[in-house]
Amino acid sequence: MSPAHFAEALKAFAAAIGPENVFATDEDRQAYSDHFSADETRHRPSAAIAPGSAEEVREIVRIANRYRVPLWPISRGKNFGYGGAAPALKGAVVLDLSRMKKIEVDAENGVVLLEPGVGFFDLYDYLQEHKIPLWLSVPGNSWGSVAGNALDRGVGYTSYGDHAARICGLEVVLPDGDLVRTGMGAMSGAPTWQLYKPGFGPSWDTLFCQSNFGIVTKLGLWLMPEPESMLGADFEFDKPEDLGWAIDTFAPLRRSGAIQQAPSMGNWLRSAAVMTTRDQWTKDPGPLSESVITAIRQKFKIGWWSVQVRFYGPLDITEAFMRVLKAAFDGKPVLSMKPTRWVKGDPPEGSPMAGVPVTFPLANANWHGGRGGHIGYSPVLPPRGDLAMDQFRRTHALYEKYGMDYHASFAMGERSLTNVNQILFDRDNADMMRRVDAFFRELVDDATRHRYGEYRTHIEYMNLVASTYDFNNGALRRLNERVKDALDPNGVIAPGKSGVWPAAYRSARA
Ligand code: ADP
Repeated sequence: MSPAHFAEALKAFAAAIGPENVFATDEDRQAYSDHFSADETRHRPSAAIAPGSAEEVREIVRIANRYRVPLWPISRGKNFGYGGAAPALKGAVVLDLSRMKKIEVDAENGVVLLEPGVGFFDLYDYLQEHKIPLWLSVPGNSWGSVAGNALDRGVGYTSYGDHAARICGLEVVLPDGDLVRTGMGAMSGAPTWQLYKPGFGPSWDTLFCQSNFGIVTKLGLWLMPEPESMLGADFEFDKPEDLGWAIDTFAPLRRSGAIQQAPSMGNWLRSAAVMTTRDQWTKDPGPLSESVITAIRQKFKIGWWSVQVRFYGPLDITEAFMRVLKAAFDGKPVLSMKPTRWVKGDPPEGSPMAGVPVTFPLANANWHGGRGGHIGYSPVLPPRGDLAMDQFRRTHALYEKYGMDYHASFAMGERSLTNVNQILFDRDNADMMRRVDAFFRELVDDATRHRYGEYRTHIEYMNLVASTYDFNNGALRRLNERVKDALDPNGVIAPGKSGVWPAAYRSARA
């Protein structure tokens, strides 16, 4: 695209939404780049534009089609570790929806209909201010938006922690500018839009998750009614090998529905990296020695693995589940199991387990000092202890091979285990940054050899991860791209998102 043509497009955007909502200086481009990547220019957008309503989004999309300008929708763009606000396709225009902040809560039914710019803190404040007894489920870094997180299949800690699964009804601007409401919202004025997910005929909500088929301008979400009680236990385990039997103890409780949230077993560094920095313990650049690990664990009283389990609901029931949990671990070599108890009327527990938004987990980016960052590597496994141990050993060995500090967790889904690993780095350390890319690719290779796919990935690796979904010579990719081309013939919405490329940009995959 010529600079003159692009300048014309920017003028048209400015005419539609006001020049004050078009950002195209070098400083703006830098602001919308991925601040966790070694080379921020790789995915630098050419501009950002911030419409204030669904009608303005529709107008923007029409202009984008006219000028063939690819857009990259973000809600608040705090998707740290996965690309932040930056587009997969360098030069795409970021469509920043963070000005759209309407919240409509139906307190009786425990649902909210919100616009993409609503952050977890906004929604939390709204519920507090209006004294609405509903709890959020928040991700570790709650700085981002409720909608963007759910659409990217983010997770939280309560029994509502599978955020995408709690979506009920969307409003979407399609790539041709049409406006659609899914589920019961397809009937204008239906009072059940946020109450009944399927609607009539094919259901579309999940098709807009991790996809580039449309721009979500409203999202319905179920929230947890404030429970009568929240009981649980904080576990510490002493040895790496405890992972296996602990997973095998948790998995049946998860399958039976006794445990309704996803306990996440994290290693000592997950806890330590938010409380201290590496240089306080060693100057040695290689993998940390056992003696350093032991010293850190002793100082902060953390196990090799830690996990928090919580039950939500009537006290009679949470107390019964606590007995089931204790019986399951009875006689097993747990380092410590500290029961926790909150009952309605107690002072609020200010933790993500109680749906309170937090940002302190972001501190882990400071582990190495310098300008920190991280990327996530998150393959999905069957929920079996022996497979988890095997996965742990192989991944740990690769961390050692590349001289990186092992940072991992295993989150227990109802029928799966997501092994979320963070590669923590210092972007100012050129030697370290040279290793990260090869390390990441070898990790994906290793998972693929075991036929484990990743649930989510950074914009830099979307093609790589999509290519591992290889059944019948990539039949899923062909299906995705046929749908993409049918909906978005000019390829204006998020080319390359999740490795799905519209015809106009398909050569960019390589
Ligand atoms: P957060 O606001 O939680 O930080 P982001 O805005 O970074 O989340 O969104 C994460 C990803 O989800 C984006 O990169 C984009 O691909 C997708 N996404 C976010 N919001 C929307 C939306 N409103 N419509 C379509 N896709 C979206």
